[in-house]
Amino acid sequence: MTGRRIPNLIDGESREAADGDWIEKRRPIDGELLCRVARSRAADVAEAVAAARRAQPAWAELTPVARGDVVRDLALALREHRHEVSEIVAEETGKPIELALGETDAAVEMGFFVAGEGRRSYGRTMPASMAHRAVSTVRRPVGVAGLIASFNTPLPNLAWKALPAVFCGNAAVFKPSEHVPASAHHVAELWHDAGLPPGVLNVVQGLGQEAGAALVEHPAVDLVSFTGSAATGRSVNEAAARRLAKVCLELGGKNALVVCDDADLDDAVRWAVASAFSNAGQRCAAASRIVVFDSVYPAFAERFTEAANEVEAQPVISEEALERQLAAVRGASATILAGGERLDRPGWLLPPTILEGVAPNAEISCTELFGPVAILYRVAGFDEAVAVVNDSPYGLTAAIHTASVHRAMRFAELARAGVVVVNGGTHGSEPHMGFGGVKQSGTGWKEAGVEALDVYSDVIYVNVVSDPERV
Ligand code: NAD
Repeated sequence: MTGRRIPNLIDGESREAADGDWIEKRRPIDGELLCRVARSRAADVAEAVAAARRAQPAWAELTPVARGDVVRDLALALREHRHEVSEIVAEETGKPIELALGETDAAVEMGFFVAGEGRRSYGRTMPASMAHRAVSTVRRPVGVAGLIASFNTPLPNLAWKALPAVFCGNAAVFKPSEHVPASAHHVAELWHDAGLPPGVLNVVQGLGQEAGAALVEHPAVDLVSFTGSAATGRSVNEAAARRLAKVCLELGGKNALVVCDDADLDDAVRWAVASAFSNAGQRCAAASRIVVFDSVYPAFAERFTEAANEVEAQPVISEEALERQLAAVRGASATILAGGERLDRPGWLLPPTILEGVAPNAEISCTELFGPVAILYRVAGFDEAVAVVNDSPYGLTAAIHTASVHRAMRFAELARAGVVVVNGGTHGSEPHMGFGGVKQSGTGWKEAGVEALDVYSDVIYVNVVSDPERV
């Protein structure tokens, strides 16, 4: 792919940005130039939105069953090309190919789940106080969807937004992260070849402040679905609010995993390592706060550190991200148990890093780093653990390790998070499970699951009044 140029995909055609500008995309594994990416601005976004507007009415005329059939074909095409697509993802993110393959398979599964909604997407019927009045709900597309995603798991991020959006009868403009341009372009081309009509899914490349902001502000974009940081989400929400567009925000996390004194420590260590450091900690559901009961703290800290030291460092997405994470670690008044320094070789590599001795309300405890950094907190018992878990601006996921069903159930009642896990990791979702957080982790909409249909469609109440005298 080196030296390649990644253009926009508008109306089924590859197009350079109107200004002819390009951004350089470098490889996380060694910092070498990977490709040049179209630097789109408002004019390119306007073209893509116009293409979507033109394509949407005919697409929406298809029945949900027919649209579901097309989505199934897209999933099958992705499955058929899983190796080539995963190699692109591995190269542009720096993640191991096995991880990229797993993510591609997850995106395929999302496609199959959404396709199945073609024969379900059930509505509701309800009684009415007036006699002979039949009331039921139907789903209608919202119109043109502006979709903006993060870089961390490029294909699930694309599939979670684009597939339910188009299934629901919308046409979409997808703005991938500038860090992962190539996989989105490749998959969108693949999907056109697999039968998605031109204009139904357009991909506009570029920087967030330029292409992303223009998409959010475009008056013909009826719905904005955004996945990214809380800071960007806030500005997206403000811009969309000015024109009262429907907005779904899936934002960050500072997820906590609690280790009680009755936990199976081997299991707790295994899950904590996977939760904190897989994908170099670049997961919205990553466990960056590990809250440990006093009596097992020394044993857990020792074993967690040992296990973390065995994890091979994976690059983070950019030099800038690495510098931000290093600055936060250096600026924290903390003891470093593992990692903490950049590896002395090419690439953006920070090994798994563990800190202790940090106050739960210190800046680093409240700020999402989106890198391989976990902080250990020592607590007296259950109540203090729950207080630390909830002392966060975020509320995406939370986990507890305990042998007690009573503690587990009480934790599920008290933890302020969109996903609660007992004796597992702070992992995300499967295609049929709605996923989304509370507090600053999102606007309350869920992605995936049948809940995603609520984001990408309007629910209309249809009333039919009949007269039995006129039979
Ligand atoms: P980011 O906020 O920097 O960027 C996200 C996307 O927004 C990118 O495509 C970017 O180009 C675009 N963007 C940037 N500025 C914009 C603007 N002013 N207007 C419109 N678009 C703009 O986030 P990131 O670094 O790509 O991703 C990391 C964040 O994403 C973390 O906070 C992580 O927790 C979150 N995330 C959340 C979920 C979830 O489901 N809740 C999933 C994955 C990642």
